[in-house]
Amino acid sequence: MIRRHLLILLATLLPSLAAAYEASAVLEARAGSLPLLLTVPHDGNDFLGFHPSRTQGATVRDVGTRDLAERVADLLQQQTGRRPYLVIAKVSRKQVDMNRPESEAVESGELLPAYRAYHAQVAAYVAELREKFPGGALLIDVHGQSGEPNTTFRGTRAGLTASRLLGRFGPSALQGANSITGLLAARGYTVNPAPDAPDLREDPRYAGGYTVFAYGSHRPEGIDAIQLEFGRQHRASSRLAEDLAAALSGFMASHALIAR
Ligand SMILES: [Zn+2]
Repeated sequence: MIRRHLLILLATLLPSLAAAYEASAVLEARAGSLPLLLTVPHDGNDFLGFHPSRTQGATVRDVGTRDLAERVADLLQQQTGRRPYLVIAKVSRKQVDMNRPESEAVESGELLPAYRAYHAQVAAYVAELREKFPGGALLIDVHGQSGEPNTTFRGTRAGLTASRLLGRFGPSALQGANSITGLLAARGYTVNPAPDAPDLREDPRYAGGYTVFAYGSHRPEGIDAIQLEFGRQHRASSRLAEDLAAALSGFMASHALIAR
């Protein structure tokens, strides 16, 4: 009898424990008014409960990417009067890797609700962007890497996750002087692939992770999605936020996402 009562007690407690990992503890989300969503999966520093660090896959923090996305949002508002959508993971990558499929994201099932809360929010904003902006919308998954500190890498699985942009504008929308990385290159950043690379192939280390693949425009319910991996030295530059905001607003204007 006591055991049965314990089971009932557990059954009522467990859902509330799971609910404790919902939204506000896991992520910061802000709706915007631009056809742009910035996602930041790897700069969280919060821990949920007493779960050991993940033992498989990377656990390193993409330092500075949250601040970068928030500053870019503020700058875009100054420049255009409109804000991008933002989804920022607050939970540490040591516990949850938001840029992995569910089966690789956590090593404790109790952390799954945190992963699902992040992706439910991203999916909801992507659906909202599709409805509000039938002319097209963009997801930028903001990362940092230190393997090549003076280079910023683009990841779209060689254009796949930005299929709609490619279909409308051709490869110049992704690579070349008027692409986002091309506009960054014009401001002095080394980018990979280079603006004059002969095709859309990308460095396999940074060719586009789970998020751009899950929400990219190769899917009927997706939007154009580009992963950017900012080198450590680029992230250390006080000018990066301004340069990225200028590249994004210039790109959106020249690709019919916002009025010139
Ligand atoms: Zn990352």
